[in-house]
Formats: sequence, C-alpha cells, structure tokens
Amino acid sequence: RSSHPDQLLAHARAAIDHGRSAAHAGEVTSKIPALAAVDPASFGLSVTTVDGAELGVGDCAVQFSLQSLTKLFALVALLRVEPEAWAHVGWAPTELGYGSVAELERSAGRPRNPFVNAGALIVTDRLLHHTGSAVETVAELVRDLAGDPAVESDAAVSASEAGADHRNRALAHVLAEHGRLLNDVDDVLAHYYAQCAITGSALGVARAGRFLVDRRLHGRVLDSNNVRRINAVLLTAGMYGAAGDIAYRVGLPAKSGVGGGVLAVLPGVGTVCAWSPPLDREGNSVGGVAAIEQFSRTSGWSVF
Ligand code: GLU
Repeated sequence: RSSHPDQLLAHARAAIDHGRSAAHAGEVTSKIPALAAVDPASFGLSVTTVDGAELGVGDCAVQFSLQSLTKLFALVALLRVEPEAWAHVGWAPTELGYGSVAELERSAGRPRNPFVNAGALIVTDRLLHHTGSAVETVAELVRDLAGDPAVESDAAVSASEAGADHRNRALAHVLAEHGRLLNDVDDVLAHYYAQCAITGSALGVARAGRFLVDRRLHGRVLDSNNVRRINAVLLTAGMYGAAGDIAYRVGLPAKSGVGGGVLAVLPGVGTVCAWSPPLDREGNSVGGVAAIEQFSRTSGWSVF
C-alpha cells in the first residue's frame, strides 16, 4: 500500500486524469437550480494521511456546495451532544434511494439511516433542538475540522433549494405525522437547506474527514465507538443506493453529495476527497467515484 507523499501525488494525478474523462457521462444536478451554474469541468482531488501528508491536485482549493456531505458532519455534531441518537435514525442500507417517501412510510416514519434525506432531517431537527442552530453548529464544525475559515453557508443555494422542495417537504411532513420531529416542519427544512448549502474545498473535506481514520483524534472530535459505527454506515449507506457497488469497486467507507463531492476514508491510513459536479442517476459524482476507484486501485487503499 502506498503511503509516501510522492507516490500518492503520482496516484492522485493519474486518478484525476481518469476521473476527468469519466465525468463526461454525468450531468450536473438539476434538483437545485443554483447549482446548475457550476462549471461541469471543475475537478479537484485531495489526499491526507495519518502521517501528516496533505496533497491536492486540480481545483482542490475551490469551494463547492457540500450538500449531503454535510449529513456526515451534522451526524457527528449531533452524536457529540446526544451519543445515542442512532435510536432515532437507524443504520440500515437504503433500497429505494435517498429521497424515498415509500421507504419512510414502510418503517412507520423511522428513517433507515442518517444519510437518506429523512434521516438527515431528523438529525437536523435534533441538532436544532439541542443547540439552537443546526446550520451554525455544522458550519463551525466543518470550519474547525477543515481548518478553513472560508467555509460558510451559501444563502443563494439554500434559497434555490427551498424553492424546489416538494420531496423534502413531503418527507418532513411524513416525519411530523409520525410524531418524530421536535421542531416545526418549516424551521427544520430551513436549517436543513442552509446546512446542505455549506461550502468546502476538496482539501478542506479531506482534512475534515481525518477524525474517521486517525485514532489520535478519537475523543477530541467523537468517541471511538461512534467513529466505528459511522465508518460502518458510510460503507453500507454513504453512497445512497450505490453503496454496495462502491464497496465492491472501491472498498472504502465513503460519502457523496449532489454538489459533486465524494469523501472516502481508510481507517488507520488516510482520506481522499474528489470533487467533480456531473452526477450519475443515483446522485453520485461520476468522475469523483471513477477517480477514487482508480486511486484506490493504484495506491492499494482498501479496507479489504
Ligand atoms: N440538499 C440535497 C437534498 O436534500 C442534498 C442531497 C444530496 O446531496 O444527496 O436533496
């Protein structure tokens, strides 16, 4: 397995070339109109290791919309104040995709996991209840973990999502009907969109994921039991309906967002984040996944 920074840089360069050619097969999200303006040719890739190496290629310092990547950090922020919050969100893989109302209905309004939208709404709701501001709590955590003062919630992106939100609104109402929300539906949705609109760069996100791989950070960020559980759920449910496919192709716990970001982690070794806006039908970055797959193959990074 590669760990020398020069080798990792060579693998990252080859991975980004591979990812760039794969990205043509995808399409930038149309779900959030403001994100349609992002340059589809953007591509950033960053790697960090527990030995302290940090490297990046392409647009690795450009801020992008984290979207569902924030579900990971919101979960961390919640577990810090409510370590047993898993009871409210579950930890099973999804079969029907991240926005399925049918799946939520089947389980009497208990989401399958914290990374489908229904589960993320529960996390945001509880965080809002405990801290008074889900978006500020999550933005501060990402800023701190990424070491990046430029991290902020983009108001134009959250307003744009709020104007096109039939499905998330439906999910929130199903949750409310089953008595699972502590706050008003409108407040929860507003905080959720603002949270999804938090920005970060590939380098910042790769850094922010280090607590998942570096034992020395356990305790400072989150207790080791919860870190282990999060890595397990990232492997089985971090990539929406494609988690099984990604486990097979890449073999790393990973989380994606419709902004085109993908974070993958190898506990004990390091983190890799790719950003490329065009998505596949599941909502995962085509180029980002292709680049990480290539990187994992050449570097030998895999949990298996
Ligand atoms: N804000 C997006 C939504 O709620 C995030 C989805 C995603 O990144 O997967 O649909």
